[in-house]
Amino acid sequence: MPRRPTDLLEAPVTALRGIGPSRVADLEAVGIRTVEDLLLSLPRRYEDRGPVLPITALKPQTSATVAGHVVSCRLRRTRRLRFTIVELVIEDASGRVRATFLNRPYLAKHLRPGQRVALHGRYDHGRGGPELTNPDHEVLAEVPDGDQAMVRGVAKQPGTTGLHTGRIVPVYSAIGGCSPRMRRRWTHDALAQLVSEESRGVDALPDPLPDGLRREHRFPPRGEALRMAHFPPGGTPLETLNAFRTPAQERLIFEEFFAFQVDLLRRRHLVARRAASRPLTIDDRMRRAAREILPFRLTNDQRAALKSIVDDLRRPAPMHRLLQGDVGSGKTIVALLAALVVMENGRQVALMSPTEVLAEQQHANVARVLAPSRFTPHLLTGTLAPAVCRETIANIANGSARLVVGTHALVQEGVTFRDLGFAVIDEQHRFGVLQRAALAAKGLHPDLLVMTATPIPRTLAMTAYGDLDVSELRERPPGRRPVATRLCAMSRRAEAYDRVRSELRAGHQAFVVHPLAEESATLDLQGATTLATELGTVVFPNHRVGLVHGGLPSTDRQRTMAAFVAGTIDILVATTVVEVGIDIQNATVMVIEQAERFGLAQLHQLRGRVGRGEAASTCILVHAPNLGDRAQARLQTLAATGDGFEIAERDLELRGPGDVLGTRQSGMPLFRVGDIVRDHRLMADAQRAAAVWVAARKNAHEPPAFATETTVSGAYAHHRG
Ligand code: ADP
Ligand code: MG
Repeated sequence: MPRRPTDLLEAPVTALRGIGPSRVADLEAVGIRTVEDLLLSLPRRYEDRGPVLPITALKPQTSATVAGHVVSCRLRRTRRLRFTIVELVIEDASGRVRATFLNRPYLAKHLRPGQRVALHGRYDHGRGGPELTNPDHEVLAEVPDGDQAMVRGVAKQPGTTGLHTGRIVPVYSAIGGCSPRMRRRWTHDALAQLVSEESRGVDALPDPLPDGLRREHRFPPRGEALRMAHFPPGGTPLETLNAFRTPAQERLIFEEFFAFQVDLLRRRHLVARRAASRPLTIDDRMRRAAREILPFRLTNDQRAALKSIVDDLRRPAPMHRLLQGDVGSGKTIVALLAALVVMENGRQVALMSPTEVLAEQQHANVARVLAPSRFTPHLLTGTLAPAVCRETIANIANGSARLVVGTHALVQEGVTFRDLGFAVIDEQHRFGVLQRAALAAKGLHPDLLVMTATPIPRTLAMTAYGDLDVSELRERPPGRRPVATRLCAMSRRAEAYDRVRSELRAGHQAFVVHPLAEESATLDLQGATTLATELGTVVFPNHRVGLVHGGLPSTDRQRTMAAFVAGTIDILVATTVVEVGIDIQNATVMVIEQAERFGLAQLHQLRGRVGRGEAASTCILVHAPNLGDRAQARLQTLAATGDGFEIAERDLELRGPGDVLGTRQSGMPLFRVGDIVRDHRLMADAQRAAAVWVAARKNAHEPPAFATETTVSGAYAHHRG
């Protein structure tokens, strides 16, 4: 038996009764090895299964908990093969009630007359009168009261309440063969052991949170927080619990975030000391070169962003900066001005786009802007003719290619830069995590600028990517008109297409977007195809309609895109953001079909494809007749504002907890207790606290060893991919 509470925490889960080898394997697969790991795996949600009512107080059509002795329990087979019913009757001082369990024949052996049990479930009319159907059950005592043979772990509870019933009950997710019920039992046992050791005068659980912080936030001590987060005291509001906003829960979340932030800062200091990138210089000649390519006055935001970037370039530590700004906010020119400084310093620049089409477009765009300068951009994508490709790779290696625009091909094997000083990753939703890793794998630590047109709330960006600096372009370049956006119920879809018709008549082009979800891909592809056919033959027989979707070979897709760019196609039916991620100034109207199926950020991103030219543009959101509240809020937000930052904040509010920015996909660090979307305010708090805490220790010789290295590096390793 462990002697100190910490011994128990560090003990393998097998220290708990009922965890055998196969359960251990299940738990290990999700990173639960020690008792502490288990305790830091909080419930998914909480249910109120208390208090215990007298049987006669049961009310039809409501859920309740009752407790009593088993009068009888029998198994009934029905005529339908393999369908079984267990009928249980229990009795308390007030009366009797029947419970039926469907298809759980084993219960007939498990529940025996004389046992004291608790049941929680819905009380309703069954075939033989009112009964509880499929209630949660719990054996409170094997033999009638008075005997000491209580079930392990509930011994301290009065005989009428249990672990799975009669209280606010934690609901865990199943892990392999570990049921929610088993986890509840194990967690309860572990906590009971901690309590009993504390009560034997053993020191309370050590607290990794600095004292001052704990007092400042009025957090409960660690042991208490663990107990209350798993088994909340009666009367705790369920809503607060399920929002993870009780002091106990917040404390555990904060603890995890604080450790993460401290770790991040430490790494950052290490990097700053170690990986010195050669700082660049800037002189009048370069300022002149910049002015020469500048076709317009920069906005204030552009100027501020450029200054931050250039400051970063002049520092020895490698830059890692995120430049966020809506489509059309003018990110490219900012990146190019910085690139010019780097090239003037004799070093190379790589500009990466997510797709071939975007890379080609970016290349043309950059060539135009840089025309007055002495630099010419090169293009490297996977579809270049082999001879051209070889030549470009040779020029990258010998350094004569100063600026290369391309796709992921740029960081592929076989491409060696002579002296890469600056990498810009455009339109990246994943914050360049992959590209950065690929560059690092080649031993390259260039200054890195990641540009995204899908802003995430600043709090999230700065905290979840604490090692990323953030610049924002909120102000729009002059002369940009917002895209008029309106909702249109499906029944009035014809009006949306009338609008398209009038734009086409004026010589403009149109996008029609059809959703494509992974889980209904086949249906959606059919839908998109049918839509394109319908538009081409019935609705717009005199116009040319093209179709691009993920199911088509990329050469077909590119041919269609090229035709749309060239204007030989009038209406482009498309399924995804990337495929329409292209600059077509003549496209002035977008119809989004089944708009309720898209996320807010995604809708905003799509809409950004129109309104890029001089003419006024429109976006029409065609939606199902009966919208849910959330869908309605999403569409109305989109219609009300064109500001991507505002939309990002609203998106954050509208999403439910756990429905993260696709946590896993986006390479976000995974936290065990906290959820960066649900708990983003705590993350911001933790970040501030960590900065203060680390700064206070930088000069003192105290090592900033806020431990829990496992927690933190674990999450961080994930983050690094
Ligand atoms: P994005 O942020 O979407 O990459 P771009 O850099 O492509 O935006 O800029 C969108 C358009 O706005 C381009 O045609 C660009 O030349 C123009 N632009 C950018 N900044 C300014 C400015 N300060 N004044 C006027 N036009 C600008
Ligand atoms: Mg751009």
